Amino acid sequence: MNDFDDELRRQLDAIREEGLYRQLRRIDSPQGSHVRFGKQPLLNLASNDYLGLANDSRLKEAACAAIQKFGSGSGASRLICGSLTPHHELEDALCDFKRIEAALSFSSGYATAIGAICSLLEKDDIIIIDKLVHASIIDAARLCGAKLRVFRHNDVNDLERILKWATARSPSPPSGVGHRRRILIVTESVFSMDGDLAPLREIVELKDRYGAWLMLDEAHATGFFGEYRRGLAEAFEVGDRIEVQMGTLGKALGSVGGYICGSRALIDLLINRARPFIFSTAPSPATAAAATAAIRIVQSDDGEARRARLWANVDQVKNSLIEIHWPVGVVRSPILPLMVGEEEKAVSLAAELAQLNVLIPAIRYPTVPRGQARLRLTVSAAHDPKEITLLKEAFAACKMRAQSKNARDREA
Ligand SMILES: *Cc1c(COP(=O)(O)O)cnc(C)c1O
Repeated sequence: MNDFDDELRRQLDAIREEGLYRQLRRIDSPQGSHVRFGKQPLLNLASNDYLGLANDSRLKEAACAAIQKFGSGSGASRLICGSLTPHHELEDALCDFKRIEAALSFSSGYATAIGAICSLLEKDDIIIIDKLVHASIIDAARLCGAKLRVFRHNDVNDLERILKWATARSPSPPSGVGHRRRILIVTESVFSMDGDLAPLREIVELKDRYGAWLMLDEAHATGFFGEYRRGLAEAFEVGDRIEVQMGTLGKALGSVGGYICGSRALIDLLINRARPFIFSTAPSPATAAAATAAIRIVQSDDGEARRARLWANVDQVKNSLIEIHWPVGVVRSPILPLMVGEEEKAVSLAAELAQLNVLIPAIRYPTVPRGQARLRLTVSAAHDPKEITLLKEAFAACKMRAQSKNARDREA
């Protein structure tokens, strides 16, 4: 046993030496524009609760009502006897919201990516992913056994180069012999660590031209892009041309879980093949019912009001940072990466902000490439203008400290 712990401690020391050691931070309050860390209130610019629904009373009431009616546990996997009314109501709500034929919910977005990609592809197929897709997609791409190719981030020319290679390499077999060659492109609508948008129209054109399929992960767009807030596919008017639409229930929708939307055939195949769906207990009735309530809110006037507040807050945060000459990117997105570079520098800036009661996490390798550490600031509809002023003051204070430190270093 001692050997075991010694070996693990050596590995932990190596992680520390690289400045990559991580620890849990216990939060003693619900999600909101502020969270409590012990007694310390922190301005929360860290969550993915974009519409401020994670602690909404309507979601909580829906969850409680589902517990009263269907219990706390679902008792079995969906295919055994755990496919309860709240799961079906959630999937009906997803179809109505996304204006699509069929939907299937999963226990998490991570499980959704693994389940969907591994159901669609096998050894002789090809999967092409954007360089910056989420870890769940990278893991799924490796696990499915298909040949994996990576295109430069948001670079449609590079994607086309790979599509040319893929179609030349595996011409379709004569009909009736073997299976049709499958090429699946996977990308995200709003990138989780950079906040920028995929050039969806061009990607859809390309995949049609080369006979590939497209899977789009709308984790950071569902609820606030498009006239009906369905996501970026709706905003770019390509919703009906994407084979596999994926998302999470854990971000703007304020609950937990993931989903796939698409054709009836796609969903039936997933029910038969997606291992994280088949071999896992169905999600609790509470989380399914909360997600259904969130979808209804997103579809309502309140959803539109929250979306408007979110974007107004995004603009106010960006303008505040620009006013104090803090470098920010040009994209309009609720995810603002504040680039730092060195891992340790990002961690110490995050610590300095935390001392000023502002919670913005430092994001490091392996979540982003080495040497591209950053603070990842996320904006929510839950923030109010006064809170954003606090943010500006905290950044101004950090900047002043850094400047006086530089001056001291020059004198020394
Ligand atoms: C968060 C996230 C996931 C995983 O979703 P969970 O529901 O948190 O498991 C998948 N893809 C992207 C792009 C994400 O940001």
